[in-house]
Amino acid sequence: MADLMNADVLVVGAGPAGSTVAAQLALAGWDVLLIDKAHFPREKTCGGGLTPRAIAALRTLGVLDQVTSQGHRVTGARLVSPSGYQLHVHFADHLDGLPPYGLVISRSRLDDLLLRHAIAQGARFLPDCKVTGPLSGDHRVMAGRRKGRPITFHARLIVLATGAQLSLLRSLGFMERVPPTVSAARAYWEDVEGPADAFEFYFDRRLRPGYAWLFPMNDGWANIGIGLFPRGEDRAGCAARLLPSFLEEHPALRERLSHARRATPIKGYPLCTDFPGHPVVREHVMLVGEACGLVNPVTGEGIDLAIESGLLAAEIADGALRRSGDRIAAAIRRYDRELHRRFAGFFREMRALLRLATGPRALDILIRQGGRHPELARTIVCICLGLMSPRAAFTPRTWRDILF
Ligand SMILES: Cc1cc2nc3c(=O)[nH]c(=O)nc-3n(C[C@H](O)[C@H](O)[C@H](O)COP(=O)(O)OP(=O)(O)OC[C@H]3O[C@@H](n4cnc5c(N)ncnc54)[C@H](O)[C@@H]3O)c2cc1C
Repeated sequence: MADLMNADVLVVGAGPAGSTVAAQLALAGWDVLLIDKAHFPREKTCGGGLTPRAIAALRTLGVLDQVTSQGHRVTGARLVSPSGYQLHVHFADHLDGLPPYGLVISRSRLDDLLLRHAIAQGARFLPDCKVTGPLSGDHRVMAGRRKGRPITFHARLIVLATGAQLSLLRSLGFMERVPPTVSAARAYWEDVEGPADAFEFYFDRRLRPGYAWLFPMNDGWANIGIGLFPRGEDRAGCAARLLPSFLEEHPALRERLSHARRATPIKGYPLCTDFPGHPVVREHVMLVGEACGLVNPVTGEGIDLAIESGLLAAEIADGALRRSGDRIAAAIRRYDRELHRRFAGFFREMRALLRLATGPRALDILIRQGGRHPELARTIVCICLGLMSPRAAFTPRTWRDILF
């Protein structure tokens, strides 16, 4: 006999997207049950880089001070092209209205802080519990397992924040097949030499299309990894295999790591960047964060969009829950439309940029010319951070800066 748990809202997945929705809906007075199959604190394979856009979202959520006190502050970004051209941009010179800094933080710390915030707002949390699939046609009854025991969940609304783990989405009919994913891998290093004031991105022919990152942390530690974008053939697992030899062969990174020691195993993980590849609302279920494919298709950053989509989903769910029974399903369709309005054009243009402007020659030219022209540098950074659409960026002035 399965245990039974009831709630107004069941949120599956306690990453940034799930904890954001849970916190906001609990704050609005709803009975929220937040579930994760992991035991917290748990590490998530990630670069742990919080962009200025993520900082702004954390501020809206009301947790910025706690996160800032635990993270390492960076004030800019350094881009290194395949031929070694460098571009260093200071966020303070470029970001109108956004906090002029980013943070690097381990995901075990960040996600635990966000989870504690959700609990402090009144959400109930159930760890070590995997939700396995629907038990009713309208998806308001779900099955789960905790420590070998079956559990049945009843809720008026279900929010899936399950990240790049797609089996639950498939069992609910959100997608028929798994979309192409980015293959990424990272590890932590200690005693890393050199500056620790910027997110560092390295572009290289061996990674094409893709890049390596070095994100500095406190006490000489750094999160270092590579991301390989889909290229026709399946690149799953490639990043973890390639990372050690890439770091040995890349001249600048080899030097940075000459006295460093790898402190953790290399871990690989996929990224879903396919928004709007599948519906984000079905019956009484909403998707948030990476479950929607909301990860920047050029930079691989998804924490900012996870929190932003969580804030939006909570706002719309709050209105929907004030309605009765079947009218909830109709009310949450607005989330699908609003998410498309905000992000679909941007994702289309970023994918076009990925095809056209991430070849080694194009990157050499962009990064070299960005070093000469501050306005072009600003444009490159704003596009990468998702603050400017690539189409809007390519003005006659941008072309002049690129060409001369
Ligand atoms: C190597 C790598 C580096 C990255 N670097 C960065 C970076 O530097 N900056 C950045 O912004 N983004 C980065 N990303 C992307 C970022 O990690 C994700 O976009 C972000 O974690 C998405 O948040 P989320 O809340 O949607 O999902 P997640 O953080 O993936 O959380 C999903 C949660 O759901 C739980 N779950 C899944 N299925 C079930 C189930 N059936 N039942 C119960 N629980 C379940 C999981 O245990 C997990 O805790 C990186 C990704 C990778 C792979």
